[in-house]
Amino acid sequence: MKRFSGKGVNDAVAIGNVSVFKRAVGNVSRTVTDDPEREIKRVEAAREKAIGQLSKIYEKTLREFGQEQAQIFDLHIMMLEDYDYNESIQNIIRTQRVNAEYAVAVTCESFAKMFASMIDTYMQARAADVKDISSRLIACLCGADSEIGSGSGKTIICADDLAPSETVSLDKDRVMAFVTAFGSSNSHTAILARSMGIPAVIGAGEEFLSSIKNGDRLIVDGGTGELIIAPDEETEKAYLSKQQDSERKKALLCKLKGKPSVTKDGREIAIYANISGIGELDAALANDAGGIGLFRSEFLYLESDSFPTEEQQLAAYRKVLEGMAGRTVIIRTLDIGADKQIDYFGLESEPNPALGFRAVRICLTRPEVFKTQLRALYRASVYGRLGIMFPMITSVSEVEKCLAACEQAKSELKAEGLPFSEAVELGIMIETPAAAIISDRLAPMVDFFSVGTNDLTQYTLACDRQNARLEPFVDTHHEAVLRLIELAAKNAHNHGKQIGICGELAADTSLTKAFLKMGIDELSVSPPFVLPLKEAVRGIDLS
Ligand code: PEP
Ligand code: MG
Repeated sequence: MKRFSGKGVNDAVAIGNVSVFKRAVGNVSRTVTDDPEREIKRVEAAREKAIGQLSKIYEKTLREFGQEQAQIFDLHIMMLEDYDYNESIQNIIRTQRVNAEYAVAVTCESFAKMFASMIDTYMQARAADVKDISSRLIACLCGADSEIGSGSGKTIICADDLAPSETVSLDKDRVMAFVTAFGSSNSHTAILARSMGIPAVIGAGEEFLSSIKNGDRLIVDGGTGELIIAPDEETEKAYLSKQQDSERKKALLCKLKGKPSVTKDGREIAIYANISGIGELDAALANDAGGIGLFRSEFLYLESDSFPTEEQQLAAYRKVLEGMAGRTVIIRTLDIGADKQIDYFGLESEPNPALGFRAVRICLTRPEVFKTQLRALYRASVYGRLGIMFPMITSVSEVEKCLAACEQAKSELKAEGLPFSEAVELGIMIETPAAAIISDRLAPMVDFFSVGTNDLTQYTLACDRQNARLEPFVDTHHEAVLRLIELAAKNAHNHGKQIGICGELAADTSLTKAFLKMGIDELSVSPPFVLPLKEAVRGIDLS
């Protein structure tokens, strides 16, 4: 029995067997070979294997999802058979006398760069595909995994780190929990784990990763962050009973469904859910969310290999609005950049991505991308009660530009005879200190504010939320952050506007009373936190 610990991200326990996810690309080293022809034969064998895997995935996807979804794997097979791609690998092996893995990695990089720099958006999107196929090829060469949690049976995934796009692609029916050696508890990976209700521990350290192997029995305590490899019988029993306790607590909370979210002295507080895709809509409804306070629309883009079209976006937004049946749905416009990178956007890498080209900054410089999303949002607005929210606002002029883009989308739709609702509310996220400080200027321009405490904390305390080493310096209850929220609440109310909180701090019930005292009207949290928050609100007396 061996104990480790990391940051627990949700109050849930899992006990099961481990699958270690070894990432192939990124760990490739260059070695010199005296037999280049042998390396070429290795690539050929790996290519056959990769094509075999892809053919199987193609058949499965075709059976389960249809031709449209399956064709991407057909394209991947074609790319693996592409003459130029294979010639480049062989040339590098022969001329530089290097190992096959390195030649694939170098080819991947130059082909991905070439695709990303193309003007045609379809071709730009192929950068992601070339990375995908190269990663699979390297995995086949070195016996690493190309898919997270591939295989059968329930499992606990242990990995060095997971990107948000990898986390969303986890098969929730198979993955009981996941543990990462690196990463921080405020990252989008942690946020997604909370939403999915999967027990997870982040930042368990390198030693944990080197101590664990496939098939090991592991206890993951998502509450305390404890990890126990090969537990003895007594320990496993104790955690089993903890797991049952938390199931019982969940069942008790279910009794709150349908009851109003109202304080003891009668103040009604809207409790909404944060979702990252239509897949989480059921969880929001099952947990009795009064609305959607934050739909992170960028996950539509992250889950796609190319820009989602207006029709694809419309279908997704419509589904959420119809699913919520007239309750408020706040959809945030695209917020990529920083930890959420999408190859087909062809963004340059930046030395300081948290302070870089992200969110509304991308939308305002890529008007065609922004317009497609706004048109889809307005067209969806006839199916429910929609709020559109703009992230990473820092200035009056950014808000003006966002509002002008909305007007332009509306007038286009009008001219084309496409219906939309005039009742759409427009709001901004208060997630930069600048926005909070000038919230008196911003409040008259919009219908609502929503405080993004994750970024507001990062930017106020100057602590990169992706950097696990900074966690000891991040005081999530820091007075500076709380004062900025209070200031924004005061300015919102001075102008008769509503203010909510949709960052992770909204779920921190030790702050609920303080937030309500500041006048916060709405709290939006991951679906599993809706009922615990309702319990907290119903226990508060503000009089
Ligand atoms: C936030 O910053 O608090 C927020 C809700 O947005 P995200 O976590 O997606 O950046
Ligand atoms: Mg944010």
